[in-house]
Amino acid sequence: MYTMEETIVITDPDKDRYHTFGYISWWKQDVVRNATVMVVGAGALGNEVLKNLALMGIGNILIADFDTIEDSNLSRSVLFRASDNGRRKVDAAAEAVKELNPDVNVKTWHGDINFEMGLGAFRHVDAIVGCLDNREARLSINRFSWAIDRPWVDGAIQELMGIVRVFWPGRGACYECTLTDLDYQIIGLRYSCPLLARQDVLQGKVPTTPTSASIVAAFQTQEALKLIHGMEVQPGKAMMINGLTNDVYRTEYPVKEFCMSHSRLEPIVELEGATAVSTTVHDLLTIARERLGDEAVLEFDGELVISMSCPDCETVTPVFKRMARLYEAAAACPQCGRKRDMQMTHRIMGDEDFLERPLAELDIPPLSIIRARNNEEKVYFELTGDKETFLTFS
Ligand SMILES: [Zn+2]
Ligand SMILES: [Zn+2]
Repeated sequence: MYTMEETIVITDPDKDRYHTFGYISWWKQDVVRNATVMVVGAGALGNEVLKNLALMGIGNILIADFDTIEDSNLSRSVLFRASDNGRRKVDAAAEAVKELNPDVNVKTWHGDINFEMGLGAFRHVDAIVGCLDNREARLSINRFSWAIDRPWVDGAIQELMGIVRVFWPGRGACYECTLTDLDYQIIGLRYSCPLLARQDVLQGKVPTTPTSASIVAAFQTQEALKLIHGMEVQPGKAMMINGLTNDVYRTEYPVKEFCMSHSRLEPIVELEGATAVSTTVHDLLTIARERLGDEAVLEFDGELVISMSCPDCETVTPVFKRMARLYEAAAACPQCGRKRDMQMTHRIMGDEDFLERPLAELDIPPLSIIRARNNEEKVYFELTGDKETFLTFS
């Protein structure tokens, strides 16, 4: 934090794009330059947050999104142009960020944040900014943030309304603490079927404006900036912005006693030499047994579909995908169309016939954290070897 003794270095305004920040007593450009920030969602809020992070000179930005650009995005997305139609949002956003400020290094990640990013990725960033438009993704980020003990900044917009919140595991309410029964019902729509129903179920479009996006994103970026500097934030409290009445007020949420998000992975063991592509199931089980004894097993959070079999055609087809990532249509037999039976598991005991498969071929993403246990204790192994390739910014 700022003390009177600290010298303020004033640079040449003609040579230093960050010159003006030098006048801000607590601002540390080297801290900003060395920071890594993950922005989840490159829509209306994400565009504004990314723009701000780029202008401030945040050194490394991980941009995560699953979507592509359509013309309707152009009214709220400062980083996109009409010529970007059809491109991945992450690619267009990364390019625009580099153009705004070539000092900034970016890494793009295109996928479904709910199931496809290794949890370890969240551990190795300084701040997580959620620029999301649905409860399911917020709930995922919230649970990840608790699991690996990192704060995250949420933003939400609708018409001229906005909410900005910092959630910090163990310090005040978390996102899930704020959910009502109705929220759970809306999220539950997606989980009611064991296989994902059509993607469009989650597209409950919320009307937003470029003004509410820039207002909320500006506050989100400021909260991220404070987190990077180790400054005080207000976790578990919300800043509510009403653009119709111009009321801005703060509210505090109660902590839910039995909130399902409140669980931390402990202890996490970093395996520097392990990667999703090079480490086999057998390798990881061996490491687990060295630590936890011969009865140790590996466990996944969701079911892994090993194969699908059609009783009519008497075929068995290997699948090796997590059930959470499979769509309903995947269950249909390609020959007769009948819904096939699924063989699945969530526990590796050591007698499986696929132990020589690399973890990636069990649908385990880079930088994943995998649970190993015996009857008394649990250990969480991170595929830390993936950090070098997965978290490389350029
Ligand atoms: Zn909670
Ligand atoms: Zn069949």
